[in-house]
Amino acid sequence: MPFEVPELEYGFDALEPHIDAKTMEIHHDKHHAAYVAKLNDAVAGTEFENMEIGDILRNIGDVPESIRTAVRNNGGGHANHTLFWETLKPGGPEDIVDPLKHAIVSQWGTIDAWKKELEQAGATRFGSGWAWLVMDKDGKLKVLSTANQDSPLMDGMTPILGVDVWEHAYYLNYQNRRPDYLAAIWKVINWDVVGKKYQEALERVK
Ligand code: MN
Repeated sequence: MPFEVPELEYGFDALEPHIDAKTMEIHHDKHHAAYVAKLNDAVAGTEFENMEIGDILRNIGDVPESIRTAVRNNGGGHANHTLFWETLKPGGPEDIVDPLKHAIVSQWGTIDAWKKELEQAGATRFGSGWAWLVMDKDGKLKVLSTANQDSPLMDGMTPILGVDVWEHAYYLNYQNRRPDYLAAIWKVINWDVVGKKYQEALERVK
């Protein structure tokens, strides 16, 4: 089948105690796997089965209406989680490094102010969704949230960092305390990877 769940490059327990091993296992092996299986079902026998998921989502309006909702939800789920696992990779510097750091400080004043805005975006997303740092078409950074598995790619923006705020991402460890999960997420972000995503986004808008 064309789309596959990427192998985690670290153990399920690598993000303990901030994200527990059981949550990681269910999230990766069950939730992400289900999005991929349903995406593959939806695109089977169509031109979309051989396309990059990012290209499909950037042009979601070109997907036939009969499968568009399935591709939006499950293709979005696949792309969002693939980025999520990558940016949670253990290791790297403890906090943001230049040039992304400089860009964030220029826009938000301080790193803490930016983090608070992202946490707020996640905490106030009603129901399920994601909180994002994205780059828009003009190269400007933005913090926003999306509902369900909607990807910023569908609105012409490039995701740099995404935080999953579906209950399945935190409920075993944090129960209803989504803000506590959001405050802890900073302990497990790989800033090398996020910095690389920023550089790639810059290349894209050039
Ligand atoms: Mn998820």
